[in-house]
Order: sequence, then C-alpha cells, then structure tokens
Amino acid sequence: MAESTELLVTLKPGFTTVSPDRRTVLSFDREGRLYAYYKAGVTYRRTLASAVEVRYREDARRRERLSRAEAARLFAEVHRIAATCYRQGPAALRARFEEDGVLQWTPERLLAQEEAFYRVYKPISILPPDQYLSVVVQATEGCTWNRCTFCSFYQDRPFRAKSREEFARHVEAVKAFFGRGLSLRKGVFLADGNALALSQNRLMPLFEVVRDAFPGRPVYSFIDVYTGERKAVEEWRRLVEMGLHRVYIGMETGCDELLAFLNKPGSREELIRFVHDLKEAGVAVGLIAMVGVGGKEYAGRHGEETLAAIARMPLGPGDLVYLSPFIEHPGSEYARRRAERGLTPLSEEAIEAELQRLAGEIRTLGFKAARYDIREFIY
Ligand code: SF4
Repeated sequence: MAESTELLVTLKPGFTTVSPDRRTVLSFDREGRLYAYYKAGVTYRRTLASAVEVRYREDARRRERLSRAEAARLFAEVHRIAATCYRQGPAALRARFEEDGVLQWTPERLLAQEEAFYRVYKPISILPPDQYLSVVVQATEGCTWNRCTFCSFYQDRPFRAKSREEFARHVEAVKAFFGRGLSLRKGVFLADGNALALSQNRLMPLFEVVRDAFPGRPVYSFIDVYTGERKAVEEWRRLVEMGLHRVYIGMETGCDELLAFLNKPGSREELIRFVHDLKEAGVAVGLIAMVGVGGKEYAGRHGEETLAAIARMPLGPGDLVYLSPFIEHPGSEYARRRAERGLTPLSEEAIEAELQRLAGEIRTLGFKAARYDIREFIY
C-alpha cells in the first residue's frame, strides 16, 4: 500500500474513484458498489450480477471471466484496499465512503447481487458498445424473429411484450436495484431485441413509463429493419419527442445474397429507405455490420456491397457504423450451413485487417466507424 500522500481521490456526483498508487484504481457507484478495479495493467469490471470480466493485453487483447471463488477473492482484496484508503485518506473521502456505504459491501454481499439482479432482469444478452453504461429496461423479452442463423442472443426465451402495468413494475424494480447508482447511467436502453418493432399503440405507453421514470434521459434501442410493424416517419418523430435518441440496426451486410444465407429477411434497398425515414424523423442511427461473415467466398462482395449501401445513407455526426468481427458459434445453424456450402472461415487476423480497411473507407465517406466486439459486452 502506498503512502497516503500518493492517494488520489475523485469524488464525482456519479461515482467515486480512489487510487492508492499509480498502478491501482478502485471505482465505486453511488451505492458504494465496486464497478471497476484496475491493477498493474489489468482491468477487472464487475457486472451488475457480480460476475467479473478481466481485460489485459499480452500480444493481443485478452479477456477472461473469473470463477465465483476468484471473484470473491478479488472483492475481498478490493475491500481491504478500500478500508486502508478510508483510514489513510482525507476527510472528504471518509465522508463519501460513509455516505455511500462503500465498506459495507463485503464480498458476500457483493456476490449476492447476482440473485438481486436476476430478480429484476432476464439475462441481458447484448448491448451496443456505447450503451454499456446505460440503464437497461426490458420492455420486451426475446426477439420477434429469432431465426437468424448466426444469432444465439435470445434463443433461451420466446418473444413477448410487457403490458404497461407489468413494464412499470419492472422499471420500478430496476430503479430500486440501482438506487443512487443510477447517477452513473446517462441513458436508458429499451431492451430486448426489437422492442421498437411493437405497434405504436403498444409502444407509446411504454415510452411514457420510461419518460416518467427517467425524465430527460435519452432512450436507445435495437431495431431490425425487417420485423415488426413498419412505422411512418411521423410515428418515429413522436417517439423522438418521447425521448428516443438513437436506434441500432443489425445491418449485418449490404449483400442481399449473404443476408438471405443468414436467414435475415429484407434487403439492402429496404435498409437504405428505412435509414432515410429515421433520419427524416430526427432519429440517430447506429448501423452494425459483421466483418468476416460468409467467409472467404463472400469477403469481396460483402465488403463492397456493404460500403456501397452505407455510401447511400444520409448519415451525419450523430450516427455511426459499427464493425463487428464475426464470431461463429460451433453448433449454430450458421456453422452447419457454412460447412454444407463449403465456405472457408476467415482467420482472426484477416477479419481484423478487413475491419480496419472498411473502417478507413467509411471514414473516407465522412462517417464515423467503430469496432464492436460482442465478446467485450458487459452490463
Ligand atoms: S433479428 Fe437480431 S436479435 Fe433477432 S435473431 Fe436476428 S440478429 Fe438475432
């Protein structure tokens, strides 16, 4: 443990960080719960259900998940460091720790957050990278389509929409679970997949619940072009008035043949028209394309047709294109069909090189491009 003179403290309205030395940083939400721990080049992030994701670099980016016993040891280590900081730190830090109850979060109590989390939520399968720090509310469960060959996000649950009353109870339970920890969360993510595919009549009451519970916070959600009821521009505008800020569209590819191979309905033209509608209504857009899907045989057409489609979209400064390295799940329908068609998977290095190339081309078009690694998802 470093001398107290080295101790750095940041007390923000939304969080507390304490750094006893240059190689160690502890971060707590305003309920006093650990959410991140950095130690000597390794970052540990606690999910809301108290799983711990470990990230570090060796030759490449590495990630692991701790076992429950390892997580308990890590929480104990953090608790010991926090207790020492409390004793040696300035009065303002002691006051903050007391106000937020930081030292009351014993490893056992922190581990018990798993049970508390699953009383409130069905598993959160995926979020866009800029949404990991939103508060997720599940207006629907599952996906309306659920048949894309590569996707396993919602296979554990059939699609269902909550009534206004049920959703309002869920939102209250979410708020209680976060407590003052909500101040770390800037936006609201309306989950699961395709919540926005509900008809306007069913959706508006759910937006009212969100607006009343989280006034002024921007709302985000996934939407697929091809499922659910198609909304008019005016209806999207109404949702913008109710707080909708950005939608994330699983574009996957601009190549229709590949899209059909993935069993995702729709077409490049429908997507382009849909993005025009959204932009006209004032909705920001996050497009997600998968790099490497379809293997070597599709690589050329997939890249070129995806870029050509994006080039025809009226994207602006608030929009972005996510490029997601494709992960083939063994045993998936995609893996079966890919083998049947004799398609050759791209290596990780080839996918990475293509991702960098596409990102460069998208930036040349004047649009924002970012990496979206589904393995880094955390909530
Ligand atoms: S529409 Fe989206 S969430 Fe649904 S199965 Fe396809 S990729 Fe998965």
